[in-house]
Amino acid sequence: MFEDIPVEVGVVHEGERIRRKDMYLELGGPDVKEKFELVRVLTPDKIEDGKIQVIGPDLSQMGEGTSNPFGILIEVAGPKLEEAIEGVLERRIHEFSNYLQGVMHLNQRYDIWIRISKRAFAKGLNSFTFVGKVLLTLFKNELPIIEKMQVTFLTDPFRVEEIYREARKIYDERDARARGLTDDEVDTFYGCALCQSFAPSHICVITPQRYANCGAISWFDGRAAASIDPKGPIFPIEKGECLDPVRGEFSGVNESAKNKSLGEINQIYLYSAFGRPHTSCGCFEGIAFYIPEVEGFGIVHRRFPDPTVNGLPFSTMADSTAGGRQVEGFHGISLEYMRSPRFLQADGGYRAVVWMPSEIKERMKENIPADIYDKIATEKDVSTLESLRAFLEEKKHPVVQRWKKELVAEPVPEGGLQVFTAREVPITQGGIRIILKNARITAEKVILQPLRPQKPKKGEGRG
Ligand code: SF4
Repeated sequence: MFEDIPVEVGVVHEGERIRRKDMYLELGGPDVKEKFELVRVLTPDKIEDGKIQVIGPDLSQMGEGTSNPFGILIEVAGPKLEEAIEGVLERRIHEFSNYLQGVMHLNQRYDIWIRISKRAFAKGLNSFTFVGKVLLTLFKNELPIIEKMQVTFLTDPFRVEEIYREARKIYDERDARARGLTDDEVDTFYGCALCQSFAPSHICVITPQRYANCGAISWFDGRAAASIDPKGPIFPIEKGECLDPVRGEFSGVNESAKNKSLGEINQIYLYSAFGRPHTSCGCFEGIAFYIPEVEGFGIVHRRFPDPTVNGLPFSTMADSTAGGRQVEGFHGISLEYMRSPRFLQADGGYRAVVWMPSEIKERMKENIPADIYDKIATEKDVSTLESLRAFLEEKKHPVVQRWKKELVAEPVPEGGLQVFTAREVPITQGGIRIILKNARITAEKVILQPLRPQKPKKGEGRG
């Protein structure tokens, strides 16, 4: 099927990582502002089936080691195809392009990041035409409802910018269409296991009020995908019994997570970053990170390039959050979830948010309660934990009340006071790694001391 492609093509290559030293070039990624992938459903007369077009320099004309503006536009037609399915088809670009040996595709929509390895380029993968042929074949084989399809690769910066703007509007319209329905009104959620090639224990649980972590799949998309491609990566999850309406725990979700993660994850709270939070793969649009020094959450999105108020940039925190684990206090989220009334519901929602980039604060203006809006700091207000603390006190942010609560000493129970539990605690000691599974740490005495925020040292904790 792929005899004329110079590299191997197959599911075995999904999950392949290409480090900077091994990359020939990259398309999109953090160093490029404008990049996108977009699928559009058109009428058949507007599509030349099988056409592959490259607008701008092809791979062979780009320099080694460069980061380039980039867009993929896929146009499809078929009697059963509707606009509502575009988002679902678009997400499959991630899967199918990763089948190519020596191609790494990360993220989605306006955040795509693709690397071509030096080895693949040396083997002859020097034109987008090869990638286009693979996409055409895989899309049509896996999704027979596509009758006609054409693929356009854009690398000309002016054309990328032009269609990027259009694409942003289309993504916003899609997200807006998916709002309104609540989690209480449905009996079925949807799960997505597409990112298991990179994060084996991860599934996204997609509900009407909790958009997928990548921000690319709504509950409506999930429903459409499960119906047109029942053997695909998106599947229905019967909600089952609601075990905790505040944290968002459902028996059907727990059961499904257990099955799909092969027993690794057996309990999920959909609306909390603590206890048993939703797992994070690596495609999340943003991170909600707990700041213990002020007992509140910071939010950072992938496009924010600077260190956040805790001194760590997105990339460093993403490393600690990703991989399909349940990491308390570091929670991968989509930006659309920030528009949901369920957003961190069990942890205080926006009343617990203390910092976020100004760009996101502006975008979420309508969703942040009016009485909290001015109390949330941005990079324009503060740059250290010390100044954040002063800001929150001055603005009388609700978290300040928590600092003043009297600490009541409880009598220590027999066997010690349980102070820490975790499913996995890694310790590196004397050249070996010790992993404590289901750890419980107890203490005979607990001393509580007020913590003075420290100014992060320059470069501390960065990747
Ligand atoms: S982030 Fe979640 S919904 Fe998006 S592709 Fe990955 S598993 Fe699927």
